[in-house]
Amino acid sequence: MNDLLIIGGGPGALSCAITARQRNLSCTVISAGDTSGWLARAEQLDNYPGLPRVSGRELLRIFRDQAESLGASFRTGVARQIQSFGGTFMVLVDNDILEARAIVLATGTARPQLLPGEESLLGQGVSWCGTCDGMFYRGKRVAVISAWHGGVEEALFLAGLASSVDYFTLKTHEAPADPRITLRPEKPTELRRENGVLEVIAGGSALPYDGVFVFRPAVAPDRLLPGLALDGSFIHTDRRMATSLPFVYACGDCTGQPFQVAKAVGEGNIAAISCSEDLAHA
Ligand SMILES: Cc1cc2nc3c(=O)[nH]c(=O)nc-3n(C[C@H](O)[C@H](O)[C@H](O)COP(=O)(O)OP(=O)(O)OC[C@H]3O[C@@H](n4cnc5c(N)ncnc54)[C@H](O)[C@@H]3O)c2cc1C
Repeated sequence: MNDLLIIGGGPGALSCAITARQRNLSCTVISAGDTSGWLARAEQLDNYPGLPRVSGRELLRIFRDQAESLGASFRTGVARQIQSFGGTFMVLVDNDILEARAIVLATGTARPQLLPGEESLLGQGVSWCGTCDGMFYRGKRVAVISAWHGGVEEALFLAGLASSVDYFTLKTHEAPADPRITLRPEKPTELRRENGVLEVIAGGSALPYDGVFVFRPAVAPDRLLPGLALDGSFIHTDRRMATSLPFVYACGDCTGQPFQVAKAVGEGNIAAISCSEDLAHA
């Protein structure tokens, strides 16, 4: 079990990992991918102290190399759900469960744009997790709606259970090539239940399914960790970067403006120090 799991992969998460390792905490950084955060999109930064005119990708590489050289572990994947059981956090990452004594959320600003009907049907035929809910659809008709390549693996897993899997692409990525999966060219615009039938509205038609799985490279923070207090759409923290939940901290853009690398890095450092102090007294 890790002392600390850090959800993110941008400057906030990597700064937190660096200080966590200096404080001798074992930690794993869980990230949807090196190019998925904001910093990878910044062509040149002119206001990060000590590294004038650095590109976002280069800065990320430097941060990551430093964290890795200090012994931080890395895991590529989306954290979908976090649950706390008697002092241990269980984090569902794709099809695995990782455990830790504390959590740092450094998830950036990504807020998934949900389809109309998606939220209200969640748990009633609509799911965001193939591993959690796939078994309910053994021998049934399933739709996978995916905004990224992570949906491919989930669709392959579901194809081993369901009687049929239709794959809809929300944003361009390489779709699965498997004879058990039917690729649908239409763009889904809505999910609904009409006369008891779960339907995907796509290309002007209402297509019936028993289950609909939606996959995106981000999860809203209060869905990721139920009970987490928010300030608007940002995670509420105090000056120690502690959230409303014990042993859960947050840093970077997910705690609010200004959206700046220096702020993310500073907050990541504070989150790691607070976490190390709290775990020492646990
Ligand atoms: C074009 C552009 C130019 C910019 N220029 C500057 C500049 O000049 N100076 C400056 O200071 N700032 C600049 N910024 C802002 C800066 O990039 C951000 O403030 C900074 O990257 C925030 O860091 P972060 O770690 O909080 O989030 P991010 O860098 O956004 O990283 C968040 C990471 O978390 C991952 N993630 C989210 N949810 C999950 C999950 N459930 N499971 C796993 N991983 C997850 C994301 O995929 C992402 O990799 C710029 C941003 C952009 C877009």
